[in-house]
Amino acid sequence: MDARQEWFRSRIDQVHQRLSAHDVLRMLGVPIRQSGSDNEEQIRCPFHGKDNSPSARVYPATGDKPSSVWCFVCNERWDVFALWKNLKGLDDCKFPQILKSIENYLGLQAPSAPEGGASLQLNLVDDSSVSLLDRVKKLWNVADSNLRELRDTVSMEPYLKVSMVLDRIRYDINHDRAKPEIFLAALQTILAKLREMSSNV
Ligand SMILES: [Zn+2]
Repeated sequence: MDARQEWFRSRIDQVHQRLSAHDVLRMLGVPIRQSGSDNEEQIRCPFHGKDNSPSARVYPATGDKPSSVWCFVCNERWDVFALWKNLKGLDDCKFPQILKSIENYLGLQAPSAPEGGASLQLNLVDDSSVSLLDRVKKLWNVADSNLRELRDTVSMEPYLKVSMVLDRIRYDINHDRAKPEIFLAALQTILAKLREMSSNV
């Protein structure tokens, strides 16, 4: 590992020590249930659309493996960085920006950058293989699932309002009515609105 990679590694470790997958889910309003033989923590997966029975399990950190969430339908595992990114709709952000965003949230001071300046070139999460439209669809599922979780706890009017906007966006996505960038921005606004709604509950 060169100095720069070590610098990132120490920052990543620092975040994992302070923040678990469980914390991120709680913070962002994803309900966690306990069931199963060992009272394991489960969630309805926010990423693959309708998930009536919880398909995803929350894993605490063990040894040098950080905490994570794994969904057997998506067959995907998300650590705190991936959860933060996907649940906050930060698909456009590169890994260093996500890291910075969590550090800011936690009030963590990053150790000073090694020689060579702080230009953030390292890209541990490369999303370039996923098309923007796929990301938009994924984000729509996240927003839809977050909204459904709020159904019983918020008043009817804002619920229906957001629900109508989401239906409209889905229709427009399916009919190719605008550029994916426009949908992405709209969905990010909705996710912010949903977070606001869930914090007022
Ligand atoms: Zn899933």
